[in-house]
Amino acid sequence: MERSFEQYFRQDHLPHLWCPGCGNGIAMKAIVQAVEKKGLSQDNTVIVSGIGCSSRASGYMDFDTLHTAHGRAIPFATGIKLANPDLHVIVITGDGDCTAIGGNHFIHGCRRNVDLTVIMFNNNIYGMTGGQASPTTPIGAKATTAPYGSVDRTFDACKLAEAAGATYVARSTAFHVQHMANMIAEGIDNDGFSFIEAMVQCPTAFGRKNRMGSPADMLKWMRDHAVMKAAWDKLPEEKREDKFPIGCLYKAQAIDYDAAYDQVIERAGGAHK
Ligand code: SF4
Ligand code: MG
Repeated sequence: MERSFEQYFRQDHLPHLWCPGCGNGIAMKAIVQAVEKKGLSQDNTVIVSGIGCSSRASGYMDFDTLHTAHGRAIPFATGIKLANPDLHVIVITGDGDCTAIGGNHFIHGCRRNVDLTVIMFNNNIYGMTGGQASPTTPIGAKATTAPYGSVDRTFDACKLAEAAGATYVARSTAFHVQHMANMIAEGIDNDGFSFIEAMVQCPTAFGRKNRMGSPADMLKWMRDHAVMKAAWDKLPEEKREDKFPIGCLYKAQAIDYDAAYDQVIERAGGAHK
């Protein structure tokens, strides 16, 4: 029987404003599935978002939420976590919000290993602001700012997170709903900066411009191009072509920011929290 997740959503803020067939709702539900799986209390979990189609999710979720400025969700979330380390802080961001406008905040959040679970809804475009190319728009893909195809090289946000110091890095897609929830749940478990790239379809700003067919066709594209990490590792280079790995891509142990700050407080002779 389908479990009811109504308790996690603000019925007074629904129906949502996303376009029909948008993948953002799938990722939002995967987050609450992960919250439920980990048994987190709604009163002890804060959802922080930036600006963009993805970041609207915080307004639909019945937690303590903060809808911040464009690109700035991670600094706000860092402040919340340092002020009250007992809270679970989940950040919802988009590809433009996270890797362009908030790019510096993203890499420094990773570097500091702040204990946050950051879920980047990657639809490969700026959806809300009019379909401009983002750092994850594939080379050659069309956008309103790249009508003949983008020439900018594409960020692999997972590699970026790993290189910058995140201690849990994973990717999933809107086709792999349960898998996405599991990746987020593992991210919640990690004491440090967790980054989950949630690939979602944007049939309006990205799909239409790039003739990707219906939302279902876009989901099938994800199904056909995603390769589970264990299989990916055995896949010869020449067979990787336009495919991409999903799953936990990187894990490491490192002191998280709050614990590091506790040590500073101790060295300075201050009181522990
Ligand atoms: Fe979703 Fe794209 Fe519509 Fe935004 S523009 S709500 S990302 S389909
Ligand atoms: Mg986007």
